[in-house]
Amino acid sequence: MTDENKQRHDIDRVGFLLTLRQRGIVDQAVLRAMEQVPRAAFVPSGALAEAQADLALPIACGQTISQPYVVAYMTERLALKPHHRVLEVGTGSGYQAAVLSKLAREVISIERFRTLADQARERLKAGGYDNIEVIYGDGMAGCPDRAPFDRIIVTAAAEEAPAALIEQLADGGIMIMPRGPHNGPQHIVKLTKRQTPDGSAVDEERLIAVRFVPLLAGQAREL
Ligand code: SAH
Repeated sequence: MTDENKQRHDIDRVGFLLTLRQRGIVDQAVLRAMEQVPRAAFVPSGALAEAQADLALPIACGQTISQPYVVAYMTERLALKPHHRVLEVGTGSGYQAAVLSKLAREVISIERFRTLADQARERLKAGGYDNIEVIYGDGMAGCPDRAPFDRIIVTAAAEEAPAALIEQLADGGIMIMPRGPHNGPQHIVKLTKRQTPDGSAVDEERLIAVRFVPLLAGQAREL
């Protein structure tokens, strides 16, 4: 990096964290994780100039890497503890998984496009994120072999929370996902599972308005 580029990068970096704070992210551990994970390593080379801007950006297979604010917000709402095991549905670039990995013991992330899963796995390995496992598959089915999960995050929108995911959430566990129709209003929701005398119940809290790519059933037929 030339001196000028480095200076530009440092200014962008300060702006990146400032934007997150100004928009209301207060959890110091989350801010630190956002600072530690270089988003530039997860965006396509054509979008490098915008890597630190608070924008969602296109990645391969017609998908997107979420806006940093939304990544930080969803992460903060998960209230992660260092001993937690987390399931992510929708690996995409692997950026959200990398942020989660700084705050939890283990992250299992599922992606329905083989290309994205393979690229994210390589990228995360190269970046030294060794507590993340990327799985190519249908995240709507979750990962029953590895359940229960303390936390679940879904990074694609659906009208209803997939039943298999609720099932695989530990008692007292939190699941964060964007809920709403494909082309209509979507909100982040926080689902908390609690034990009841005759099983379990899920409390739902509606949070901020968002726009996400759809959660689609099955593995992608394209690459
Ligand atoms: N968390 C990602 C954002 C990815 S966008 C990041 O940080 O970059 C949402 C992703 O969810 C897309 O890659 C899409 O292919 C994936 N997806 C949609 N439905 C899915 C499903 N049923 N199982 C697994 N992944 C799914």
